[in-house]
Amino acid sequence: MSNLDRRPPAHEVGGLAATAARPVLDLLPGKEVLLGESTKVRRLLPTLGRRLVGAWAFVDHYGPDDIWDGAGMQVPPHPHTGLQTVSWLLDGEVHHRDSIGSDVLIRPGELALMTAGSAIAHAEQSPAVHPRYLHGAQLWVALPDGARDVVPAFEHHRELPGFTSDGLTATVVVGSMGGATSPGTAYTPLVGVDLDLAAGADVELPLEPDFEYAVLTAAGSADVEGRPVTPGATLYLGTGRRTLRLRSADGGRLLLLGGEPFDERIVMWWNFVGRSGAEIADFATAWAEHERFGEVAGFDDHERLEVPPLPPLPLKPRGRER
Ligand code: MN
Repeated sequence: MSNLDRRPPAHEVGGLAATAARPVLDLLPGKEVLLGESTKVRRLLPTLGRRLVGAWAFVDHYGPDDIWDGAGMQVPPHPHTGLQTVSWLLDGEVHHRDSIGSDVLIRPGELALMTAGSAIAHAEQSPAVHPRYLHGAQLWVALPDGARDVVPAFEHHRELPGFTSDGLTATVVVGSMGGATSPGTAYTPLVGVDLDLAAGADVELPLEPDFEYAVLTAAGSADVEGRPVTPGATLYLGTGRRTLRLRSADGGRLLLLGGEPFDERIVMWWNFVGRSGAEIADFATAWAEHERFGEVAGFDDHERLEVPPLPPLPLKPRGRER
């Protein structure tokens, strides 16, 4: 997925100053963003007051949308640098193509993990003949300095490990939890777990006290450490927790994101993660001039997303909070 804002703001994030050094329960409302002509998504990260959770740097939650009479997701070729994209579907199908030749249909419960590294371009579309409903999340992971120039790669894992407990069915998308480890490649200590809570579920998850965490609600409702959560907001949990109590009276589908606080300062603008405004400007120029990123097969030049105008302010990295 692409950041399709016509005038995307620059986000200057990273460093440890604003990581909560203790457990907190901060409910951070997301905002609705129009993606393309008609698709509304809930942008849960970055949000007012929080830019990063570990190396997780971007979360859009979309659907469930009835796309029976529509084209569904149509995100044409666009570039990325310095990050990984994690595509996670709860319902529907997405056709992924990229500039290193990947051409894959992604289904619910599968991990599509694209490592942009130094440069990649990709496109994501609902297939012409698609299931009625589309529901999922698109997440970005910032790459640390030592890995941000790695050779671009795409991984498609159809089977993911997980565990069950007291009404919970957990799928480990990235990292490890409950003795299950995702096959997805990560470059910082990181975890992402899909939590499917049955009605009446009451469970305690094991956490890493050095990680910071946040919970997103994809569907239904739940209580997280006694705090009710519903779709549309992020509950930031801070650090210093060894367990997390989850309950759901009527059932709910959550996504737990966590990781070691990301101590590097980065610049995020449009679809790029870099370390300076000059670097971001170079990425933008390279995309506009058909350099560096390669081409996504199956699209004409006029279909690719154009880079928006760079903001006038110099892009400098700064703290984790707004
Ligand atoms: Mn993308």
